Amino acid sequence: MTQQRKMIPIAKPTLDERETEAASKVILSGWLTQGPQVAAFEKEFAEVVGAPYACAVSNCTTALHLALLAVGVGQGDEVITVSHSFIATASVIRYCGATPVFVDIEQGGFNIDVQLIERAITPKTKAILCVHQLGMPCDLRKIVEIGKVHKIPVVEDAACAIGSEIQWGVEWHKIGKPHGDIACFSFHPRKILTTGDGGMITTGSKELDAKVRLWRQHSMNVPDTVRHGSAQVIFENYPEVGFNYRMTDVQAAIGREQLKRLPEILEHRRRIARAYAQRLRNIPGLGIPSEPAWARTNWQSYCVKLPAGADQRAVMQSMLDNGVSTRRGVMCAHREPSYPAGTYRAASHLSRSEAAQENCIILPLYGQMTEAEVNTVAEALEYALANAKPAALSA
Ligand SMILES: *Cc1c(COP(=O)(O)O)cnc(C)c1O
Repeated sequence: MTQQRKMIPIAKPTLDERETEAASKVILSGWLTQGPQVAAFEKEFAEVVGAPYACAVSNCTTALHLALLAVGVGQGDEVITVSHSFIATASVIRYCGATPVFVDIEQGGFNIDVQLIERAITPKTKAILCVHQLGMPCDLRKIVEIGKVHKIPVVEDAACAIGSEIQWGVEWHKIGKPHGDIACFSFHPRKILTTGDGGMITTGSKELDAKVRLWRQHSMNVPDTVRHGSAQVIFENYPEVGFNYRMTDVQAAIGREQLKRLPEILEHRRRIARAYAQRLRNIPGLGIPSEPAWARTNWQSYCVKLPAGADQRAVMQSMLDNGVSTRRGVMCAHREPSYPAGTYRAASHLSRSEAAQENCIILPLYGQMTEAEVNTVAEALEYALANAKPAALSA
């Protein structure tokens, strides 16, 4: 018997006519790629996060690639980061011809264990690439301190962290306000705001901004926007090898509408996260995420640790059978076939990273989600924990 049932998805972007109208205006304007909309989006994004410079690019992976190149990462260098992240975090290091040096994540959370960073440093270390995993700020204050002491630049993978905040002295700062050298954001539909695909690079350094801005458009020294508006004939040249990592004006126009929704999106996600915490608190052995006193997450993902002995795949399958979509915990790059021995260095055990991948699941959380749906998810999880058995045993 097939049953029509309403699925609760893992995520769903918040989009309506505001975005479609903004995009259609750009299409009808005749200027589709990087132009005035990109410039306006950059200015508005910089204001929202409190950064002097923001440079839009095609996605966060290209943003991270340019950021690492800009701080000087090259062939034979090392970059300290986590394996426990989306694969792009480690792969961009290899784009530069450098080696990812992995350290484990912290106890009880999904961010880099800052205690392990210093002993991973060698004379080849050219950057620390820290991740604000699932939107939860990592201990940036400590990481920036280590960077200063050892004169190593800090690049923030803030793909998931638009709108997340960190306490700095008596103030709260949005992630992207420069504390590290460069921060990179994603506008993939699975993140907080979306432009389909898209990325943003923020920095406090005029020099770093100038580099990434040049490289994202083939290192063309006179952009086509300038040539187009000029009454004089201008010949451009290409002082360095660059990339085509542009964002289009269609995407930027969508992004500008998305940015206006940020406060309401954050408020809603925080309300849903509170409802989850309240509802899940009574499930024995379940680990629920929490913010350190100095951080406010945007709850890009709500990731719980299953009770000891629960079978991750069986729990997820049972929940799916009951109409609730989930995802396993964050992946570990070092366990993928594209990371054979010799392509990275493990500077510590990675046991907490591996355990988090195996024992955690991500629950649905999105803009239109209701508290009734939170309850449906919780019931499906309770049912799964009580009934789901590993496939091998029940077969
Ligand atoms: C999504 C994500 C990326 C990649 O972002 P894209 O915009 O899809 O390239 C990089 N790092 C982390 C931690 C991510 O979650």
